[in-house]
Amino acid sequence: MLKDKVAVITGSSNGIGKEVARTFSHNGAKVVINYPFERSKGEAEKIVAEIIEAGGEAIAVMADVSDFEQAKQLMKVTVDTFGTIDILVNNAGITRDMLLLRMTEEEFDSVININLKGVFNCMKHATRFMMKKGGSIINMSSVVGLHGNIGQCNYSASKAGVIGMTKSAAREFASKNLRINAIAPGFIVSNMTDKLPETIKENTLKGIPLNRFGNVQEIANVALFLASDLSSYVTGEVIKVDGGMAM
Ligand code: NAP
Repeated sequence: MLKDKVAVITGSSNGIGKEVARTFSHNGAKVVINYPFERSKGEAEKIVAEIIEAGGEAIAVMADVSDFEQAKQLMKVTVDTFGTIDILVNNAGITRDMLLLRMTEEEFDSVININLKGVFNCMKHATRFMMKKGGSIINMSSVVGLHGNIGQCNYSASKAGVIGMTKSAAREFASKNLRINAIAPGFIVSNMTDKLPETIKENTLKGIPLNRFGNVQEIANVALFLASDLSSYVTGEVIKVDGGMAM
């Protein structure tokens, strides 16, 4: 479905991003595995090796998406290596959960800088290349960006911001056949959710009609749909993948 397409997936050395990279590669894409700091280099190189072993093409590029110049460099290295960018998945994200009364300025700023400004930085630098022949951008939001959540003022604001940015950019680039959509996952098993207390997990589960947490492949499947021509008439959309949690 993505034969010879070039895809950049931010924050893809583990979790949802890694599964998106694997899935895109299985479907023929050349993939760029992005990781933020030296500490994830080993994991990033492992996934690159796995993809190459399976007959695919991949490189690993270190870049902190919250840094304007590093995001620019990520796109430049991609184009220098593979010649173009067809697909961008803005997946990198963090949580720094705390009640508003106790939330520090640093906890607020770091989440906004990575989750929201990071999406701006990457779209800003990738669209320069992508608008030449069109493509697909997929921004990872969250159901929390639609409905809010206790202890997540910073995170929900960043993810609501991603939805607004997705819709504005979708309007700006539609004439270039560059489609821009968002995915709003519910509770997906990953490092991000592993660190939550059991009581929160149990309470969350009670609110999920499908009565289970999601897995990373279930997000990657929707990303594949949005990246491919199967969604050729879809832009500015937000697709919830949450087992019915936020309907
Ligand atoms: P994860 O396992 O923690 O993955 C997040 C990835 O982002 C990691 O690879 C991380 O790298 C990377 N990252 C962090 N800061 C970065 C930066 N400044 N620049 C580049 N990469 C950076 O979490 P996940 O569950 O897969 O989450 C992926 C996305 O889905 C996030 O945007 C998250 O908000 C969203 N989401 C997840 C859920 C869920 O239930 N899991 C629900 C809704 C939305 P390091 O490991 O090196 O820090």
